Amino acid sequence: MEIVSLDTRPDDDSSSSSLAELAAEIVACRLCPRLVAWRERVAVEKVARFAGDTYWGRPLPGFGDPDARVFVLGLAPAAHGGNRTGRIFTGDRSGDFLCKALYATGFASQPTSARPGDGLVLTDAYLAAAVRCAPPMNRPTVVERDNCFPYLVRELAALARARVIVALGAFAWHAALRAVVAGDATKMARPRPKFGHGAEAVVGRYQLVGSFHPSQRNTFTGRLSPSMLEAVLRRAGESARA
Ligand code: SF4
Repeated sequence: MEIVSLDTRPDDDSSSSSLAELAAEIVACRLCPRLVAWRERVAVEKVARFAGDTYWGRPLPGFGDPDARVFVLGLAPAAHGGNRTGRIFTGDRSGDFLCKALYATGFASQPTSARPGDGLVLTDAYLAAAVRCAPPMNRPTVVERDNCFPYLVRELAALARARVIVALGAFAWHAALRAVVAGDATKMARPRPKFGHGAEAVVGRYQLVGSFHPSQRNTFTGRLSPSMLEAVLRRAGESARA
């Protein structure tokens, strides 16, 4: 495990923002023209299997337990998942895979995440994405990533009990590292801790744990199995309770 000693809390003035206030701000955001156009276009054009649904078509704040010690960070909402249902990791195969693992490890009240109001309750876990709007091809630009970055810093700061960050994929890993030091490059350790499945680094007050992202590209090919993701979540839970 790599140990990185840092001044740990983001010293952003807005760190006291409540999650509710932040969520309202995120949902109204239109800072990235390309992503605004894409999320709204997808919401109108839809796909055949969801033709009867009313898509959310807006950015997504995080979802989960405000007292969570485990913060699970993904890349961005799926075009026909979170961008459709209005809740992160909800209504798509990645969300199904993640929710099953959260249920198996005691963080979720049920193994499915279909839509807001479906009864899913997370305990000691909070889910978010580094970029809050669905990007074309799941690839945000650097500018879009940086536009959205302050929301991650503020959300992490608002989760006062968070101790462990589970980064789903390299994009989330690097976003989490930056968020912990609030984007202050002078605080960033060199070399940076490297992402990998099961990689761990102590970064200030947080334990950062890496997992391959539960995208279909990883889950269909067997690169990420349910037991692999469950092992990471179990490890995160143990670290948070230690
Ligand atoms: S990606 Fe983030 S910064 Fe860009 S429009 Fe969406 S919420 Fe706003």
